[in-house]
Amino acid sequence: MSDTNKKIVIAIDGFSSCGKSTFAKAIARRLGYIFIDTGAMYRAVTLYALEHGAIRSGIVDEEAVVRLLDEISITFRFNPERGASDIYVNGTFVEGKIRTIEVSNCVSPISAIAEVRHKLVAMQQEMGRKRGVVMDGRDIGTVVFPDAELKIFMTADPHVRAMRRYDELTAKGDSVSLEEIEQNVRDRDYQDMNRAISPLRQADDAIVLDNSQMSVEEQMAWVMERIERLV
Ligand code: C5P
Repeated sequence: MSDTNKKIVIAIDGFSSCGKSTFAKAIARRLGYIFIDTGAMYRAVTLYALEHGAIRSGIVDEEAVVRLLDEISITFRFNPERGASDIYVNGTFVEGKIRTIEVSNCVSPISAIAEVRHKLVAMQQEMGRKRGVVMDGRDIGTVVFPDAELKIFMTADPHVRAMRRYDELTAKGDSVSLEEIEQNVRDRDYQDMNRAISPLRQADDAIVLDNSQMSVEEQMAWVMERIERLV
């Protein structure tokens, strides 16, 4: 690496449950950068909407969600034990509640609402203003930081992805079936790719990383080689 200490933005987009956040977090730790999990922000809005009656029986009341937006304040606080920031909504710790299957099943329609995206994208751009960030999501390289120095588009076999998410949730004690998870992963990908605003797509200048058969170490070696050419 050069000694200029140039700070860059690393955008990691891709399909659901590819391990984007784990990867982004590891890169940020290696570089001393800030890691921002933008999916957590959409999940936090979804949780708030669920808890405040704007989603009933899985049906999203868009107008009610938009009305709630002004009262939702999302903040991050660094948690040294996790080596990443925990997410808070109006000062309440919600990290443990945003990754349930209930939230996963409602997050895509919430993230398709223009006002929701407008608010969260502005926050994300502000958080990365000084660069030195690794941000993962669906529209980072296309919309949030189209000028990111490194853009990675992650993908993996849907069954492998569902297995990974299943292991993660069952390890936490959640009772979910593999079929339910695989269905959720496929549904979210479909909805995220087909929404009108900022759909999930590979930026023209993104490099594809298919990690179906790759270990975390192999992925790190792959990315560090590319980062070293840029900083
Ligand atoms: O990354 P994660 O799977 O936690 O994201 C949850 C959902 O949030 C995605 O399925 C997508 O609907 C939405 N999302 C988004 N734009 C982002 C990050 C996440 O629309 N930048």
